[in-house]
Amino acid sequence: MITLTTIAELRAQLDADRASGLRVGFVPTMGFLHDGHVSLIDAAVAANDRTVVSIFVNPLQFAEGEDLEDYPRDLDADAARCEAAGADYVFAPPVEEMYPRPVDTVVTVPDVSAPLEGVHRPTHFAGVATVVNKLFAIVGPCRAYFGAKDWQQVAVVTRMVSDLSIPVEVVPCPIVRESDGLAMSSRNVYLSSAERDQAPALRRALDAGLAALRAGERDSGSVEARMRAVLSEDAPGGVVDYAAAVSADGLTADGPLAGDVRLLLAVKFSKARLIDNDGLTIS
Ligand code: AMP
Repeated sequence: MITLTTIAELRAQLDADRASGLRVGFVPTMGFLHDGHVSLIDAAVAANDRTVVSIFVNPLQFAEGEDLEDYPRDLDADAARCEAAGADYVFAPPVEEMYPRPVDTVVTVPDVSAPLEGVHRPTHFAGVATVVNKLFAIVGPCRAYFGAKDWQQVAVVTRMVSDLSIPVEVVPCPIVRESDGLAMSSRNVYLSSAERDQAPALRRALDAGLAALRAGERDSGSVEARMRAVLSEDAPGGVVDYAAAVSADGLTADGPLAGDVRLLLAVKFSKARLIDNDGLTIS
């Protein structure tokens, strides 16, 4: 495995690979890798001839006052995990390599970005769409792997790829969880031990929402109330940004829930903001 820090070096490697007919899979990350990230690398390695993992804490997707400076980083450990998982290239550019001057070109996907995360992090998805677009232009992958944990992010990237006819297949991958149900996240290290004890309540809240749906509840407000009740009981240290029951397509609820339903949560603890989701199809 090779670790590269410049766009030119990575392009030279990948151009040679593609010229030999090799197919390139891509896993974009912000590093501090855990088993959730590794599951994406595993999927990429299984389906492609070459796998690129990018490790880049993208300033564009952090708003003022968010955790850009504090975001956990450990490039050596990350490179070891990538190598063990069978990745071929780690692309870890410094910020100046990606953004040598202030960015003037921004990709926005406003409708998909607006609800849920967009209400609380209004500039976040423009930063994500812009860097993912740029990384696609740098890497030129056949396939790119994203975790369903960031459900709305998958929706934003999928829509961007479709609208801009970017020649890449977006492959969503299942959420990887700790044994107590907490979705793995680089930000889980921010949780105090009391908060860590409360954090699996998100999984239980989703289960309560799913149980309500299975029992025939079709009113989104009632499903949301079930999830909030679990959170206020089991995670009193968290502030709920949203607990939503929506159509999986538009991420909004208009009328009774039907078809593919998605339940999504965002809960803010003292430093960590946790998100999670699950869904089912109502036939
Ligand atoms: P991040 O480094 O947090 O930007 O995440 C990089 C990629 O890993 C994104 O596509 C995430 O959705 C995915 N990811 C993060 N956590 C998990 C998880 N617990 N299970 C599966 N994928 C994940």
